[in-house]
Amino acid sequence: MTDEENRNANTVVDDGADASTPKKRGAGLSRREMLLAGATSAVALATEVGAQERKRAGAAVATKTVKGMPFRAFVRHGTQGEVVDLRLRDITPTQVVVRTRGSCGCYTVTTAVLGDAPVATPNIPNHSGMGIVEAVGAQVRRVRVGDRVLVSGTPWCGHCHQCLSGTPEWCNYLAPNGVPNDPIADMRDKTGVIEAAVIGGLSEIIVAYEEYCVPIFSDVPDEQIAMLGDTGAVGIAATDVYDPVQIGQNVVIFGAGPIGLAAVQGAKAKAAGQIIVVEPARTRREKALGFGATTVLDPNQDTATLVERIRGMCKARTDRLEAGGQVPGNNRFSMRGADLVIDCSGYDRFPPKVEPGPDPTGLLALRQAWEVTAPGGSLVTLAVQNGDIAFPGAIFCLSGRRIFGGQMAGMNVMRDTPRFITAMEKGQVDIGALVTSKRPLDQVKAAFQGVADRTELGVVITFPT
Ligand SMILES: [Zn+2]
Ligand SMILES: [Zn+2]
Repeated sequence: MTDEENRNANTVVDDGADASTPKKRGAGLSRREMLLAGATSAVALATEVGAQERKRAGAAVATKTVKGMPFRAFVRHGTQGEVVDLRLRDITPTQVVVRTRGSCGCYTVTTAVLGDAPVATPNIPNHSGMGIVEAVGAQVRRVRVGDRVLVSGTPWCGHCHQCLSGTPEWCNYLAPNGVPNDPIADMRDKTGVIEAAVIGGLSEIIVAYEEYCVPIFSDVPDEQIAMLGDTGAVGIAATDVYDPVQIGQNVVIFGAGPIGLAAVQGAKAKAAGQIIVVEPARTRREKALGFGATTVLDPNQDTATLVERIRGMCKARTDRLEAGGQVPGNNRFSMRGADLVIDCSGYDRFPPKVEPGPDPTGLLALRQAWEVTAPGGSLVTLAVQNGDIAFPGAIFCLSGRRIFGGQMAGMNVMRDTPRFITAMEKGQVDIGALVTSKRPLDQVKAAFQGVADRTELGVVITFPT
């Protein structure tokens, strides 16, 4: 079967014009009839067509009726957080049912998993995962039953205003904008459960909108693909998307957690000149050196002179202006600084069990990151800081520093994920080395405690295959 035939066979859209192949295209129902029939029929139809296609292709992936399917998930409800039994509801025509195989922990989710603040609606925390497609709604085209798929933390639709305007990281399907976040399952008492960010992840089943699904055509291990839904991909993208690193440029990275260390790898892969990492925890500084950092700095040492030290390292080769030089001044209008600065430090949601930084709000690191960015250089902000920050007005407006508020580091997940996987396959980046813990669903709290303590880097919740 050709790719074209495959695509047609899997697309259960039928305008009734092709009467010679009604069963292949969806048992004779027109698209309008199918939509009028509602989600249940649409899902069954898609499953049936998927089954026919698998039979033709010889695939051995079973499908199931999704409504009522039992599964387990970590659910926050009331003030509790625990693994509970759930029953799946019907999906809509644009949703995909994924049998989860991995979901990487994100520091921003530690509060949701470990906290005890009451939640209004029971929900499955986290915001990425990967697994195998088990069923698709009738309008889904991007992925097929049996596909290995990444459910990315950010969608890409390709047709909304932001996708067409070159800012796909703000695709309008990004929750809570373009898609409803309705319950996907019920607890035993029939209370509906939603997925955080319309993804969740800490669950045997993820129900994802098609726009969030990135099909994976690679043998890269599950836990590494899981890291591409969030931290691993974001770190690489910070060196590659908004203002890609050029050979020999200076890169400064604040924070050597999983995002920062992935950024170190990305900068090295792109042949940066200096890769300077600012990180308070000794073990993380050592990791950074192992991944290619050329200098590591402790922000607790000589905190007041940190900016000056980094600027001194990021200077032109000469002060002879006629020869490509730069004036040596280090005042507030300093010419010196890094070509690309990436802030992935983040505020302390919990007291770290490793050496804490000088400012638990993260605002000092953000200010320093901005100050060490050269005129014309770029600052990518990936960390979530706690509180408001003030900048001196004149220099903020005139310095020429470009600031990228780094939702998913600007990724177009359909365009960029395959490129990152190629780099992983070639060993140009080693996302697997960032995975320090793999734990089953029953150990979600312990896994996220390691993330909260900052004693772990990449933590992946894994599921039996
Ligand atoms: Zn995240
Ligand atoms: Zn879009």
